[in-house]
Amino acid sequence: MFADLHLHTRFSDGTWSPEELAPQARRHGLTALALTDHDTVEGCAPMAQACAAAGLEFIAGVELTAQQGADEIHILGYGLEAGDPTLLAQLAKFQTVRQDRIREMVLRLNELGVPLAAEAVFALASCRAPGRPHVARALVEAGLCSSLDEAFNRFLKKNRPAWVPKFKLSAAEAIALIHDARGVAVLAHPVLNRTDDLIPGVVEAGLDGLECFHTKHSARDASRYLEVAARFHLLVTGGSDCHGLNKGKPLVGTVKLPGHYVEKLKGAIQGRFKKGAGTASSPLPSDPREQEAGTKPSPPLAPRLLEPALGKIQERQAVIANPLSGVHIPG
Ligand code: AMP
Ligand code: FE
Ligand code: FE
Ligand code: ZN
Repeated sequence: MFADLHLHTRFSDGTWSPEELAPQARRHGLTALALTDHDTVEGCAPMAQACAAAGLEFIAGVELTAQQGADEIHILGYGLEAGDPTLLAQLAKFQTVRQDRIREMVLRLNELGVPLAAEAVFALASCRAPGRPHVARALVEAGLCSSLDEAFNRFLKKNRPAWVPKFKLSAAEAIALIHDARGVAVLAHPVLNRTDDLIPGVVEAGLDGLECFHTKHSARDASRYLEVAARFHLLVTGGSDCHGLNKGKPLVGTVKLPGHYVEKLKGAIQGRFKKGAGTASSPLPSDPREQEAGTKPSPPLAPRLLEPALGKIQERQAVIANPLSGVHIPG
């Protein structure tokens, strides 16, 4: 058994639909997949169907952006209940923030004399969780940049003139949100965010696992993170972070997580369901086998901090139209 536990589709910033992605994964010899779109679980139901059709096992997931101190980290949630009302309500807020952020980036581009329309970005993205890759693609399609790299390097990278910071939960809040939806929380691609020093703090915040294998991790990185995972009693995961054709070469098939890690992850997910874990008040598991399964109680989810973030963005905008009206949502 080989799994890819980090994949994006058109429901966020990947370029493929679940129906396009699943058969390709199968052709690369994978036997299990997890979908980890940014800030949405909308793709999970169609991906579950596409996996069933391709003979693949499926694990529902999500990727959340969080903050530990001053640093950005990404937290993957696995096995969460995709229909959990609290989860869906929170994700809907993150999606609104993302849509407002697109408008803000477009406004800044317009102020720089780049005549891009927000509607062009929303039409191209055609999803509820649009991001910078959609702005980059819209810039290229409108002939305003010659490549995605140029769009990022000139405008969209951190501290470039059209870059708008993204609202982030604290690590503890992101983990609590995942736990409350009966999921397991995993720190994504620690190398990418240069987060080694932050790991103990994120573990303290309730982390369950570490993405030791990732396209951007060297073999040395992977073995270092396997040691870190062992030291902190964390689950081990891995995935390609494939975004379809968004980043040039498709990455699906470049990371194949051996089955025994997947079984441990599934055990931890089962553990959360079994003991009714996930509520902020859930007690520490007293059964040592459940502790072994890698689940931890989550700190209470603080009152939402999103409203001020939304207000700040909306201040700059006279009218916030629904960017999704009239736009086809894939699936
Ligand atoms: P966002 O969530 O809107 O901040 O966008 C983050 C996405 O943009 C991630 O999928 C990144 O991998 C992608 N990204 C960041 N920098 C670049 C770049 N230079 N070229 C292409 N994609 C990028
Ligand atoms: Fe992405
Ligand atoms: Fe990420
Ligand atoms: Zn990702």
